[in-house]
Amino acid sequence: MIADVLLDQRVASGIGNVYKSEVLWSLQTNPFDTIDTVADERLAQLYRRASRLLIANLTTTSRTTVPGGLAVYGRRGKPCRRCATPILKKDQGQFARITTWCPRCQPASS
Ligand SMILES: [Zn+2]
Repeated sequence: MIADVLLDQRVASGIGNVYKSEVLWSLQTNPFDTIDTVADERLAQLYRRASRLLIANLTTTSRTTVPGGLAVYGRRGKPCRRCATPILKKDQGQFARITTWCPRCQPASS
């Protein structure tokens, strides 16, 4: 699943669990999409966006990805900042990492 790939430090280092969810929301990508369904260009966009967010937060103590804080992480049940649909949360992957996403903005690709 794309969320697991983003966390794989062998692929790219630095993307943690918070940024994983934030980047996927930012580019309206479903965290449970399998890597073979994510277009190469979208994959490149995800890493570029992650890089930009990480750099933007280098000198801050509180992570900010959208005006006012975070878009989805830690916001289960709260309204999506884009469409007001309640944010969902689920444990995902081998290590049951928390994933948060908007079911409306981030529909499954298949
Ligand atoms: Zn939404």
